[in-house]
Amino acid sequence: MLQQTRVETVIPYYHAFMEKLPTIEALAAIEDQKLLKLWQGLGYYNRAANMKKAALIIVEEYNGRLPEKAELLMKLPGIGIYTAGAIASIAFGEKVPAADGNVFRVVARITGEEGNILKSNIQKKLRHQIANLLPDEKTGDFNQGLIELGALICIGNGMPRCGECPVRDDCMAYEKNLQKVLPNRSKNKSRKIEYKSVVLLTSKKKIALVQRQNDVLLANLWEYPVIENFCEENELAEALQKQGINVTGIRELTKEKAVFSHKEWHMKVYYAETETMDEVFTWKSKEEISKYYPVASAYAGCWKYLPE
Ligand code: SF4
Repeated sequence: MLQQTRVETVIPYYHAFMEKLPTIEALAAIEDQKLLKLWQGLGYYNRAANMKKAALIIVEEYNGRLPEKAELLMKLPGIGIYTAGAIASIAFGEKVPAADGNVFRVVARITGEEGNILKSNIQKKLRHQIANLLPDEKTGDFNQGLIELGALICIGNGMPRCGECPVRDDCMAYEKNLQKVLPNRSKNKSRKIEYKSVVLLTSKKKIALVQRQNDVLLANLWEYPVIENFCEENELAEALQKQGINVTGIRELTKEKAVFSHKEWHMKVYYAETETMDEVFTWKSKEEISKYYPVASAYAGCWKYLPE
């Protein structure tokens, strides 16, 4: 849950999750819709899907107990080398590194590594260097120490707090005054921008919904009808008419933006009414949507415009 998400945001989700799904078996058995509903608003929905897949494997292959070795943990969906190292070292005492981006930054500064820490060969090299430093006992504490150093002292944006740093005397970046230069991270690629027209289509206070495919961004979540590209009101009415839907009262409400790691959606949001509830859509009241239909949070700004 904490991947790419702030702790304060996660806490209420964590409690709700543990209340509804207190065991691995309960997680393995939950219906996908209910799982998405519990996760709604946290984003990166494949994390939820992966947790369920991992729970199924743990129940079927490991008798309901999480495997203890990093190499087995890494085979579970959603668990990468960092998470596997963190679980294995902190929970089970295995002598393995737990290195995420923050730890790579700290170690690159300490060792004076000039290679790009976003590249896998450099990460492998740094992980190897950490592995050589690991103590035989309390490896989890050591790993957590590095993680905390990255979070609190050897911070990413702006100058690290070298004056308070316990490893200052062994730090190459400090010695050579390279804290602003290291670590080397190449710029992120720019995001692809997609333009969309979103229609809050209503009929007798019911709202049209569509479920997204299971192999796309925000898989299986629900959304309002979308026409690709920005349309004017008449173009939108025409596009809907081609699908057999006659609309009235069409008007532009607002513009919204949703930002993902690799793309941005720029959305023009329209309101429209129709007489008939065409079967291409699922028609639900606002209350039903809030209770049972996980709508992608990209559309959160549309909520206040839906009829009660
Ligand atoms: S001395 Fe400064 S740059 Fe080096 S590890 Fe500590 S905080 Fe980071």
